[in-house]
Amino acid sequence: MRIVTGTISHETNVLSNISTDLEQFRRRRLLYGEEVFDYFRDTKTPVGGLMDGCESHGFELILTVFASATPSGTITAEAFDTLLNDILEGIRKAGEIDGVALHLHGAGVSENHNDIEGHVLSEVRKVIGDKPLVSTFDLHANNTRLMVESADVLIGYDTYPHVDGYERGLEAIDVMARLFEGSLKPTKAFRQPPMMPALQVQFTGRYPMSRLIEEAHRMEEMEGVETITVAAGFPWSDFEDVGLSFIVTTNGDQKLADRLADELSDLAWGMRRDFLVKPTPVREALRKVKASVGGLFILADIGDNPGGGAPEDGTVVLRAVMEEGLEGGVFAVMWDPEAVDKASAAGLGNEVTVDLGGRTDEMHGAPLRVSGTVKTLSDGKWIVKGPMGTGSEADMGATAVLQVGGNEVIVTSKRLQPTDLELYRSLGIEPTERRFIVVKSSVHYRAAHEPIAEEVIELDTPGLTSPRLAGFGFKNLRRPIFPLDVEMLGITELKSMEDE
Ligand SMILES: [Zn+2]
Repeated sequence: MRIVTGTISHETNVLSNISTDLEQFRRRRLLYGEEVFDYFRDTKTPVGGLMDGCESHGFELILTVFASATPSGTITAEAFDTLLNDILEGIRKAGEIDGVALHLHGAGVSENHNDIEGHVLSEVRKVIGDKPLVSTFDLHANNTRLMVESADVLIGYDTYPHVDGYERGLEAIDVMARLFEGSLKPTKAFRQPPMMPALQVQFTGRYPMSRLIEEAHRMEEMEGVETITVAAGFPWSDFEDVGLSFIVTTNGDQKLADRLADELSDLAWGMRRDFLVKPTPVREALRKVKASVGGLFILADIGDNPGGGAPEDGTVVLRAVMEEGLEGGVFAVMWDPEAVDKASAAGLGNEVTVDLGGRTDEMHGAPLRVSGTVKTLSDGKWIVKGPMGTGSEADMGATAVLQVGGNEVIVTSKRLQPTDLELYRSLGIEPTERRFIVVKSSVHYRAAHEPIAEEVIELDTPGLTSPRLAGFGFKNLRRPIFPLDVEMLGITELKSMEDE
């Protein structure tokens, strides 16, 4: 059996002023044909799973394109059309094939399509007719009816932090095998309760999200149920299908699919009040660190998460730490290519003064003048050892560690969410020996950092990924939607949240 694969992966934050053109994909990862094999071989990633799945089933996997950009603003029409064409041409040129298994994200928006994944799947469907079409998806997918109707089976991650991409890739090929032999006749039900949870409450390691995943797993054990996707959605894609959704796939039993999808949707709706987020004010958290006697604090700068399209150059927390006179911390990370250039020009061990961060927009704090010693210079490349994307190569571009007062600030020239401890160790920093680490991340940091933390605190920082969703002025959501529309709570919780 011959299966074609391809990837266009982008979580689009339409409020970001970083335009997503082909250069943004090149900076993160844009690979063709055999390059995809070379990069993903022996990695615990979705594409690694597709590759290993094909190998164990004895299928041939044909690579087209793998394109992934760090979350940023709307994808240009030119970039999207080019990448889509790479996939479609790859399928046409592959000759006689038996099916297509893609890996997509699910929250991509281009200038010409609000729902790029729906468009990709429907265009692929036109080329391959009724041959099997399967795709894996991120947990942040904003699933749409077009996606569900165009593919035979959609398989979303079950975890956030995303640590099951590899398993979902393997599952996709198992599903393909059953479609080939005719033992699976997929029937699907799709539900979108009017809910748009912020990122922090999408963490699958705690209630309420864990409850939805557990219920889906329980249902997957039932006879006739093939696979269930619980997608938490990504608010900043700002179009009508944004938010929480459920896809239940059964084997030839539409009634069962509908019933289970209704049950999941009702369960989520009933728990909606538990999907509110209450982060800690920055100064309150810093005073707690100050008063502590030991143990590592992980302070999450949740408003400035590059993994959700924020710039990662916000200065709010660094400024507060310096004003409070707190020491012994690491900042992971500050994106500022100019500051890296200045640091490397100054040279190792020398003093440098830079206006750090705050360059991208007005939302994340003004540039902060700091003087420090250039402690480390690096090419910013290392191999992931933690549970997210194990074995893959991370690349944060030329990187400098500045010793600013009693703290180390990691300054990078590419945007990369701090999800792995090797980030520190590759720079000679042992994270377990520090007093606190500030991570610019919403949830992904938890996979590697929670095991070494005495305490994790979510900071109420401003920025493009803040959970204060009412402040963003979204224009294109379907309304009403929780938690933006007060009447959907009908109670005092929302009021008290906004008073704070
Ligand atoms: Zn995600």
